[in-house]
Amino acid sequence: MKYISTRGQTDPVSFTEAVAIGLAPDGGLFLPERLPDISPRLAAWRNLSYAELCLEFLKNFATDIPEEVLERLIHRSYATFTHPDIAPLRKIDDRLHILELFHGPTLAFKDFALQFLGNLYGWQCEQSGKSINVLGATSGDTGAAAIHGLLGKPRTGIFVLYPEGRVSPLQERQMTCTGAANVHAIAIDGSFDDAQRVLKDIFANKTFASEHRLSAVNSINIARVLAQSVYYLYAWLRLPESDRLNVEFVVPTGNFGNVFAGWLLQQMGVPIVGFKVATNRNDILHRLFTTAEYRSGEVHPSLAPSMDIQVASNFERFLYYALDENPTRVCTVMAQIKATGSYRFDLLNKSIFSSSSATDVEITEIIHRIHERYRYIVDPHTACAFKDINPQRVSIVLATAHPAKFPDAISAALGQAPTAPALEDLKSRPIIKHRLPADATAIKDFIAQRAI
Ligand SMILES: *Cc1c(COP(=O)(O)O)cnc(C)c1O
Repeated sequence: MKYISTRGQTDPVSFTEAVAIGLAPDGGLFLPERLPDISPRLAAWRNLSYAELCLEFLKNFATDIPEEVLERLIHRSYATFTHPDIAPLRKIDDRLHILELFHGPTLAFKDFALQFLGNLYGWQCEQSGKSINVLGATSGDTGAAAIHGLLGKPRTGIFVLYPEGRVSPLQERQMTCTGAANVHAIAIDGSFDDAQRVLKDIFANKTFASEHRLSAVNSINIARVLAQSVYYLYAWLRLPESDRLNVEFVVPTGNFGNVFAGWLLQQMGVPIVGFKVATNRNDILHRLFTTAEYRSGEVHPSLAPSMDIQVASNFERFLYYALDENPTRVCTVMAQIKATGSYRFDLLNKSIFSSSSATDVEITEIIHRIHERYRYIVDPHTACAFKDINPQRVSIVLATAHPAKFPDAISAALGQAPTAPALEDLKSRPIIKHRLPADATAIKDFIAQRAI
């Protein structure tokens, strides 16, 4: 299987190359050159464990990795999860299920992709005999998940920039209390945007980037998308036969990465009826699916901070298919979005996607209501998914984070907050972080001293 760029100006590459490069050199995003039809195999996959299913699915895509290696990497990736089902599906009402994606090391769904990506990087370093230094900027969850993906891996270093005082105390502990020598958490004096700007400046210096073998961790790596498709498949296979043809996945969404992974699976022949794109007050995607216009706006902070996004970086992948797999049209539309901040679709497939947007007041109300009704506590991101559930469908809500990660929001709704052993354990460990100015030169000096 080869990987092509959405912008069509890059020669097809193998899976491991696409993973190593991340962003295509023409500025586009990688996609499989064709999607396999997996529908004939669904019946045989019904009783597989999560890791077994993951292998059966990913071996269609990671065709340049020997199967026994892929199997080992997958087992290692999901052995760090604390629930035996990895992604347990809980039925809370007649037509309502919750897919719990928060049993990984950082208690958020990003672990599904980043544990696997960390192991892939580790294997690539082992193969090539070269080291790699991964660099990222984070407003919270991604940085923590990336750190835990690379924690203690030989020949790898990870440097994560975050805005001092602007990530939650628990998220900061997840990044700074690992005790691992290859992890460098850098608290910068500035905002998340400053952190991203510094990162861009560092990567723009090609000599520095290649000298220290820097690689970016971000939400657009194709391995992340494919690893996320697996839990949609796993959940769908766990439903009773009578429900399988009436399923809608309800997905708390920021960058469109998670919901795109589900949609891609549907394109491979899994008969999922619909996807609900659930946003917080940052509603670019809700506006897209209600008005057919994609228009970025200002970002407002919310109770669901990992969805405080107004440019959906994975959206270009969906656009590629919406524009009949025509890279020339993708280039035109992306240029228009860059120039004017917006694009209006002639035709958008509304029968598959629906959407909703929840304000902070609604998030708090929902956390309260779901607890009253089902004795179940949802985190503020997951709460957005309950805004308007379609009663005609069997809904599977993706629970993207453990509620204990957001004690303040849960306390505001319920008067008390849940705890999680993994988070309590962190509170007794020392914080190791480096305070640096939001300045590329200072950060480069720091990296140069500690890069592997
Ligand atoms: C990252 C994140 C999201 C948004 O995921 P996308 O792939 O950007 O749509 C939702 N919830 C939580 C808890 C997250 O960490």
